[in-house]
Amino acid sequence: MAGIYIHIPFCKQACHYCNFHFATSLRHKNELVAALLKETELRKEYFGKEAVETIYFGGGTPSLLEIEDLRSQLEQTVTLFSVSENAEITLETNPDDITEEKLAGWKAIGINRLSIGIQSFFEEDLRWMNRAHNAQQAISNLRLATSYFDNITIDLIYGTPGLTHEKWKQNVDTAIAMGIPHLSCYALTVEPKTPLQKLVRLGKAEDVNPDAQSEQFLLLMQWAEDAGYEHYEISNFARPGFRSRHNSSYWQGKKYLGIGPSAHSYDGISRQWNIPNNNIYIESLNKGIIPFEKEILTPVQKLNEYIMTSLRTSEGLDIDKTGEKQRKEIIKKAEQYIKRGLMLQAGNRFVLTKEGKLLADGIAADLFFT
Ligand code: SF4
Repeated sequence: MAGIYIHIPFCKQACHYCNFHFATSLRHKNELVAALLKETELRKEYFGKEAVETIYFGGGTPSLLEIEDLRSQLEQTVTLFSVSENAEITLETNPDDITEEKLAGWKAIGINRLSIGIQSFFEEDLRWMNRAHNAQQAISNLRLATSYFDNITIDLIYGTPGLTHEKWKQNVDTAIAMGIPHLSCYALTVEPKTPLQKLVRLGKAEDVNPDAQSEQFLLLMQWAEDAGYEHYEISNFARPGFRSRHNSSYWQGKKYLGIGPSAHSYDGISRQWNIPNNNIYIESLNKGIIPFEKEILTPVQKLNEYIMTSLRTSEGLDIDKTGEKQRKEIIKKAEQYIKRGLMLQAGNRFVLTKEGKLLADGIAADLFFT
């Protein structure tokens, strides 16, 4: 089982906190779409005969593309790869791009899951983030989307300076009341080289408060559990049957191919990443060359990645998937976390508790091998 990610590197405007790769000018959109088709063709042998179970249009903002652009990319993918009949095909969209016409078009070309960048239902928080949509669009266009698609996930951000616990509850309650079956919730981080980092440095924006973030994460876990969502990955909550198959395959160490500038790929042996520059990407593909760098993963790197990703999931870290020597070391190191109530052992698996999830990265790093 494998997945294909297609990166659409355009956005209407730069959200202040974002460090993804995108351009705010659509001037080279047609050349970029042609380059994506070309890369897909050049990569057609990437998985051999292995079936592709998921396709994911991410970005950037894939909903800025015309339906015809998405259709040709999907047709190219289905023609050149063994795509399963029941493949999960996700499109990331922003609320301001959602119209009846687009929803019908996306459905008609085979998109069967939407990932909508809501972030907040409050106007002042959306303005603070410099989102392109407003609070009214967040509600009305999300509601419209639910009349076309059952399988919807929304992104929500917590830990922003203006977000009180009451407002955070209202955001989560709104999503639950609207019947959204999957929530991806992220703590705001001030990433290097973002407008937000500059604003914080200049004293024009408040920095995040880690204690408030931890509290909001703990509240979120409780609310989602009470509402019947499975907390299956640290940032992801799903009603039964609505887990993201695409993202789950990343966490399970399955193979994936990333098409487009800045996209990453993994074939079980090496990791590759395309250049995060639209013009160089287009120029290079025009010459039939994919501009990427590649790294062969060592067994230790693979093991550490497994520790990092598995500890973030509800399935946890399966020590039977490590070697005999590592198994003993993990059991020894895990003891202190179990004693502190941060980790549980269930048979051969170690799973983080709610409090442990607050410290997931640090605990994983402590279990790493060199
Ligand atoms: S729309 Fe998404 S990708 Fe684009 S700038 Fe905002 S957060 Fe980043």
